[in-house]
Amino acid sequence: MSDHEVAVYRGRMDITVEGIDVPKPVRMFHEAGFPGYCLEVISRLGFIEPTPIQAQGWPMALKGRDLIGIAETGSGKTLSYLLPAFVHVAAQPPLVQGDGPIVLVLAPTRELAVQIQQEAGKFGSHSRIRSTCIYGGAPKGPQIRDLQSGVEIIIGTPGRLIDMLEAQHTNLRRVTYLVLDEADRMLDMGFEPQIRKIISQIRPDRQTLYWSATWPKEVESLARQFLCNPYKVIIGSPVLKANQSINQIIEVVTDVEKYNRLINLLKEMMDGSRILIFVETKKGCDQVTRQLRMDGWPALSIHGDKSQDERDWVLAEFKSGRSLIMTATDVAARGLGRITVLGSFNPY
Ligand code: AMP
Repeated sequence: MSDHEVAVYRGRMDITVEGIDVPKPVRMFHEAGFPGYCLEVISRLGFIEPTPIQAQGWPMALKGRDLIGIAETGSGKTLSYLLPAFVHVAAQPPLVQGDGPIVLVLAPTRELAVQIQQEAGKFGSHSRIRSTCIYGGAPKGPQIRDLQSGVEIIIGTPGRLIDMLEAQHTNLRRVTYLVLDEADRMLDMGFEPQIRKIISQIRPDRQTLYWSATWPKEVESLARQFLCNPYKVIIGSPVLKANQSINQIIEVVTDVEKYNRLINLLKEMMDGSRILIFVETKKGCDQVTRQLRMDGWPALSIHGDKSQDERDWVLAEFKSGRSLIMTATDVAARGLGRITVLGSFNPY
């Protein structure tokens, strides 16, 4: 691509870049230089072209440089860092007994970590690259077994990973590719001390990829401490958080009107599609669910005080469409696919 074509492409895709020696984007999958098995999986999945974050993020990550990526959820960002991670692993000496992972992906919630691993699994099953998911609330035994048998990629939530490190079930001495996914959300959830503790165990000459949907001051300040001469790529506007393809209707109602309005909306909308109702607090979530059930709406709920087994079960019921209404706190805020969302967050 000529410089002019690059400028036109970035303009059309709403890509903004910052940094020294930024590489040109790739417009087609084969231009990125991924191994054949990756291209085969991509074609089997029916993907037609790289998403904007992939088009610009892949050549950046494949340069081995640090990267800040600001992109909406659903933009294809997981593969933006996972496919370069596979290339990175393939270029390292194989693991030997006692080695920890080469790639570490930190994610805020167990739900996101599982989704990332599913994405990794689609590609990893065609290579020798093994990945595992380390998250709290589930039995440690199977996770420890995975770690002991050796995995190239760990996708983990901070708390459980620290438990595993402290119990010496794994170590981070071989990590040379570190991903922080949804850094903004990890900070919102108060994970900063854990993130610092984990990163302090990783060699400083690693490659770090730092992802966030938003770019507030705290997120930027953490990035500045952990990244070295990074590229930055922004898809869309850094101040806009919502996905543009989602139709949002906002109604302002008083607290007393809320429940009746919810019931009316359910009556209007219940056409067999799934409906996710966000509630600000766990207690509120339980109250709304109980009331809905008493009124004949078979809602299930998911929030941080529920056991992992129950969260898994509820999510599976909802995702499969066996249960059409789910109430949730922000544990379910991202990545559930196509659903109608009714929220009652107070935006202020
Ligand atoms: P993510 O933003 O990473 O959560 O990805 C959202 C969804 O888009 C996932 O189901 C991906 O498998 C899918 N996806 C990723 N890249 C592409 C692509 N280039 N074309 C179509 N779908 C994609």
